[in-house]
Amino acid sequence: MPQPNIEESAQDWHALLLQVPLAVRAQVLAITLDHQDELATHFYTHMLTHPAAQVYLSHEQVQTRLHRSLRNWLVRLFSVDVDSDMQEQVKLQNQVGEVHARVGVPVHLVLRGARLLKGRYARYLFESTEISREQAWDCYSYVQDFIDLAMEIMSHAYANSRERKSRAEESYRLFAIVQNAAAERGRQRAALLDWENQFMFAMAVNGSQAPLPRIGDSDFGVWFKHKGSHAFQGTVESREILELMRLIDAELVPGFDRDDQAGQIRHLHALRDKTRAIGLHLERLFEQQNELESGRDVLTRLLSRKYLPVVLSREVSYAQQRGSRFALLGVDIDYFKSVNDTYGHDAGDRVLQQFAELLSNSARAGDYVFRLGGEEFLVLLVDVDADAALRAARNLRMRIHAETFRVSDSQTLSITASVGIALYDGHPDYERTLRRVDRALYQAKEEGRDRVVFI
Ligand code: GH3
Ligand code: MG
Ligand code: MG
Repeated sequence: MPQPNIEESAQDWHALLLQVPLAVRAQVLAITLDHQDELATHFYTHMLTHPAAQVYLSHEQVQTRLHRSLRNWLVRLFSVDVDSDMQEQVKLQNQVGEVHARVGVPVHLVLRGARLLKGRYARYLFESTEISREQAWDCYSYVQDFIDLAMEIMSHAYANSRERKSRAEESYRLFAIVQNAAAERGRQRAALLDWENQFMFAMAVNGSQAPLPRIGDSDFGVWFKHKGSHAFQGTVESREILELMRLIDAELVPGFDRDDQAGQIRHLHALRDKTRAIGLHLERLFEQQNELESGRDVLTRLLSRKYLPVVLSREVSYAQQRGSRFALLGVDIDYFKSVNDTYGHDAGDRVLQQFAELLSNSARAGDYVFRLGGEEFLVLLVDVDADAALRAARNLRMRIHAETFRVSDSQTLSITASVGIALYDGHPDYERTLRRVDRALYQAKEEGRDRVVFI
């Protein structure tokens, strides 16, 4: 799909504007200014009764912020005159479309909103005693044209943005599968066994009070829910694994009766069978995948920036559905330029590789580590609260501090890094969380580096 052409849209818009008499524009602007608050309130109360829209609008910040931006949007839409910069107007609609795409608001809801607004304008215009019927029609047609044109530009930007995203999603899926497939295979096989052992151990030695460990909370379970199921999306095996895990946690584990010896043994057999089945499905999934090299950051083998939107959108909707949290850690090496200047670029590259390895080893299986570019990284910690995120960031900073980086056979050096943290706060637009991380990281640098700042 071609990019929306700003200049062309701006010309269309300008041509449309020239056809509208000044008095009509003034009338609509006056109505907009008088009723902006009511229009925005009507819009939200109405949209909130629609179940599909609630997901996007129920967050308190969205309501207060969007109330204001909707009013501004209307006022700007109807404030243009022949001297206005129509390209700015087009860019604004593009931005709105991109935000909708990022947040995942479906187009039909946006159009529904537009219809509601138009209906409201119709009432103001046709029920007014001061506006003639003919004038009301002229005004209404102007309102319709302008809202429709804005929607047209918005939808174009929306579709483009969604298309970019789905392309990135597809390649991310491949990437997620192949990122160290061999290592992941061993790691997850071991994690699954580990959970089974923990379970058996808890059965054997615990008193009857201690809760039995759930597979869904195990390292394996968390990895599969966040990454495995995505990487192997659409396969029978992936669905089977999710179903088996559900069965184990929802039916088998709660059914254990420690006082019933015979029943226990039957249950243990069932549990073993199900765990084996998960293991076999997993092996098959890994076997089906070829080693694809594309998509990873060449130097560090971490996730590259292009997967950021895909992963963040997924984690935002995961968090929204389950009421969980995630945290972003922005990590930037301090004075890295001087490493290059002192030891050479190749040595710098080696430091970056070792640094990336340290980040990966510090993260849990369900977490994500990105190289955003240069010596700047981003870690996404899944299922954490503020305390856990802060602890993880502090540990990370200390590990970096303590690590000896090897630049050649005979030379080593130490480095430090600054870390900014932001906790996902429920707002559906992940860009906001990213901006907070940036600010936190900037502050960590400003305050002297080698430190953690939590915003
Ligand atoms: P600060 O503490 O403010 O972050 O200082 P800094 O020197 O780390 O940051 P700055 O952004 O000034 O410089 C980053 C340096 O990272 C500049 C560039 O030479 C180096 N760099 C970026 N990418 C690579 C890479 O792939 N390999 C190597 N060896 N160096 C890189
Ligand atoms: Mg730096
Ligand atoms: Mg930097």
